[in-house]
Amino acid sequence: MLSLNSVDQEIIKDSNRKRILQLLSKKREATKQEIAKELEISIPTVTTNINALIEEGILEEAGVAESTGGRKPVIVRFLPNSRYSFGVDFSLYFVRVALTNLDSDIIYETTFKIEGFSNMNEVIRKIERITKDILREKKIPTEKVLGIGFSLPGTVNEEKMLLEMAPNLKIKNISFKEFDHILEFPVYIENEANAAALAELSVGIAKQLRNLVYISITKGIGTGIVIQDYLYKGKNKRAGEFGHMTVVADGKQCNCGKKGCWELYASDRALLEQYKEKTGKNNITLKEFFEALKRNQTEARAVWEEYLNYLAVGIQNIILILDPHYIVIGGEISRYDEILEPLKEKVFIENTFYSKQDIKIMTSTLKGNASLLGASLLPLQKLFFIREKII
Ligand SMILES: [Zn+2]
Repeated sequence: MLSLNSVDQEIIKDSNRKRILQLLSKKREATKQEIAKELEISIPTVTTNINALIEEGILEEAGVAESTGGRKPVIVRFLPNSRYSFGVDFSLYFVRVALTNLDSDIIYETTFKIEGFSNMNEVIRKIERITKDILREKKIPTEKVLGIGFSLPGTVNEEKMLLEMAPNLKIKNISFKEFDHILEFPVYIENEANAAALAELSVGIAKQLRNLVYISITKGIGTGIVIQDYLYKGKNKRAGEFGHMTVVADGKQCNCGKKGCWELYASDRALLEQYKEKTGKNNITLKEFFEALKRNQTEARAVWEEYLNYLAVGIQNIILILDPHYIVIGGEISRYDEILEPLKEKVFIENTFYSKQDIKIMTSTLKGNASLLGASLLPLQKLFFIREKII
């Protein structure tokens, strides 16, 4: 006779609890009978889990439903503000810190400017002070915070808690294990584009999508690959470093040691540098660039055309390699409407392999917040997700 060993029983118990939570976070409220029916688990199992979750303050009783005979069934309600999470997003010049609830609503957000990341201990200490201030201001007890997630622009080994390298930040081999004693909560880390892809899957445009490539366009380019709901990271956690695929043989020198990398031609920094070269204008922001483009300024128009050509070449390569259902473009540049249609025109030029009907290209609905929200989702995964969504 087959019997379940205790490990299997633990997994089933844990997965029942997570399935109930997932269902209630979507439906907001339901009776035990409805939950049991929808998830096909027994009423006693539902009751045990619901009681524990009420005890923990994640659910509450919210009146009674109409009876179909017998006692009126009790309605239980999901409480999105019963737990919180911190998300931290590192970029070249800024660190963003956000407090979110279980619905991934941003409760509080702050940004600080940074000279560099060479003294990571100091950066983490500053973040620790900020998180304390936020909790004090919002009157949230520390024990209600599930953890702090970091979105990092580099190669991240989340199992070893190691930022292996981040060429653009000029740092490598940073162990986040050591920051556990500075920060008061469990620490989680993920690559920036992977975190953004996770956010798109959980709360953004891709809620119903299962295969997608998220392209994060910032000072560099990162990509997150999702296959059948799983984040694909590969053997050495380096899958999806498309920002460093060669698009110009013997091209510009990259920080990574190679030449002609995609991000040197298709990141927002590359766009603004090209514009600076053409016009001699320093310190132009993306907003100012797009204003010039709207005025149909000749230089802006020329730089934009060339930029889109390079962006399209990289996307065409990604389509040929992965054949994804969707490509989601994120980062500040995705906020501008000017990007999508002309980009599609260039990607879907007449070719043997694919057409507009095969792959959908879209811009992120989370816009500049995707990686920040993804970071804050990392601690929530332990509460909600049944399996680690990484392969
Ligand atoms: Zn490179």
